[in-house]
Amino acid sequence: MKQKILVVEDEKNISRFLELELKHEQFEVTVAYDGRAGLELAMNEKFDCILLDVMLPELNGIEVCRRIRKHSDVPVLLLTARDEVMDRVAGLDAGADDYIVKPFAIEELLARIRSILRRVGQVKVSEQLQVRELIIDTDAYEVTFEGRKLELTRTEYDLLKLLIENLNRVCTRELILEMVWGFDNEVETNVVDVYIRHLRSKLQTMGAPYIETVRGVGYVVRG
Ligand code: CA
Repeated sequence: MKQKILVVEDEKNISRFLELELKHEQFEVTVAYDGRAGLELAMNEKFDCILLDVMLPELNGIEVCRRIRKHSDVPVLLLTARDEVMDRVAGLDAGADDYIVKPFAIEELLARIRSILRRVGQVKVSEQLQVRELIIDTDAYEVTFEGRKLELTRTEYDLLKLLIENLNRVCTRELILEMVWGFDNEVETNVVDVYIRHLRSKLQTMGAPYIETVRGVGYVVRG
């Protein structure tokens, strides 16, 4: 069965774009153009994830999120404008799971949606991410290969987890930077290459040659 996503976004060009992209990714998509309509849909139908713009007519996204949270723990991803730092804080306080800053690359949005859905799915199915003999235990923050533990730093762990959550999809350097180091970090994209090198050599020491370079683009783990 297709996973259902609710998009609440008043800017028609953005909501239309999201609808097309998400449908292309095999999601079932419902769109609302103001906060009140979005809230009503969120209360009356079951969605796997909600993309919620902050600046909305009728009822703003923060308020919509707060009201949804009183009744439901459906994952909410906020869409915020670049300068709305306070909104992001308020949004996370209101119970949003994550946010993405506009304008965003669709690949980043899809990666965040997949991370959220996997996080939610894991609670129901399993606490592990696995590719062949490599297992990430997301409860214990532990990685093992053929039963042997890999000693990773927190950043290396986050990096590997991101790559495995996006199995068979290339993660660009920009995406990795945003997802692992965060939006307000002024680190250079070559930091990604340095960390990948560390991580890859640790994996190879164990006999796990998992991370492929896609030249000029980024990295991928294939399973
Ligand atoms: Ca808006």
